[in-house]
Amino acid sequence: MSKGVLYVVATPIGNLDDFSARGVETLRQVDLIAAEDTRHSRPLLRHYGIDTPMRALHQYNEQAQLASLLASLDAGQSIALISDAGTPLISDPGFPLVRAVAEQGGRIVPVPGASAMVCALSAAGLPTDRFLFAGFPPRGAAQRRAWLQPLVHQASTLVFYESGHRVVDSLADMARLFGVSRQGVVARELTKLHETFLRGDLETLFDRVRQDTNQQKGEFVILIAGAEPETGRRIEVDVEQLLATLLAELPLKQAVALAARISGDKKNKLYKQALEIAGD
Ligand code: SAM
Repeated sequence: MSKGVLYVVATPIGNLDDFSARGVETLRQVDLIAAEDTRHSRPLLRHYGIDTPMRALHQYNEQAQLASLLASLDAGQSIALISDAGTPLISDPGFPLVRAVAEQGGRIVPVPGASAMVCALSAAGLPTDRFLFAGFPPRGAAQRRAWLQPLVHQASTLVFYESGHRVVDSLADMARLFGVSRQGVVARELTKLHETFLRGDLETLFDRVRQDTNQQKGEFVILIAGAEPETGRRIEVDVEQLLATLLAELPLKQAVALAARISGDKKNKLYKQALEIAGD
């Protein structure tokens, strides 16, 4: 008997009419739907008259469900993986199952559709030739700042997911770290009744969202323009290591002169340091 197929099916991110015809047909025809939250997906299935059995597959039972889902596929059953909204695996469950099926050489068929990050990018008006999807920032302020820091010099457009509870705090940290004049877009409630795009610099965006509680409601994609290429940026150098390297190749006076030019440090300070290194 041939193995069953795993379909990875994207569902709408708000507007139920966005579900693709192939998505609907796939959910009708598979033997089982593995859904992030069966209660959440029921209205979608009802809307399209789909009565395929569902089983919950969420981040807390993913590992436990794995063996039984793989056994169903082995027995020739087909499974559709869906999440609450958008594309499974994109800040959503499903990765362990897809990886396990891929490792076993099983057939995985994507049924594409909405994803909030692509939806937001397509209308934000920021460069899309290169972007970095970073997902949800950590919830705690200290962890969030440490997590954002390495992205500060990133030249690609940055794309984040955020909830209404933390959108103001995240925008505050982004303005502080990326600079108040960096351009950004806050895309809220995409494809829904209150869909909003706020565009501007990070200070303006932070002020607008903080001052208007309506702008803090719903689901958010935050997009930030990539960093401008830096011109004449100084490189951090370990002066002692630099001196030691130069001293290994050059006479002391020349090594000191070169180290002063590279590091910007004073010659007499470097001279003393060089004497110590040479003495060692
Ligand atoms: N898998 C989904 C996808 O492909 O977009 C994302 C799931 S993730 C758990 C949920 C987050 O996606 C929300 O907190 C929000 O940041 C973003 N999101 C989902 N739907 C959205 C919408 N309609 N408008 C804006 N952001 C949305």
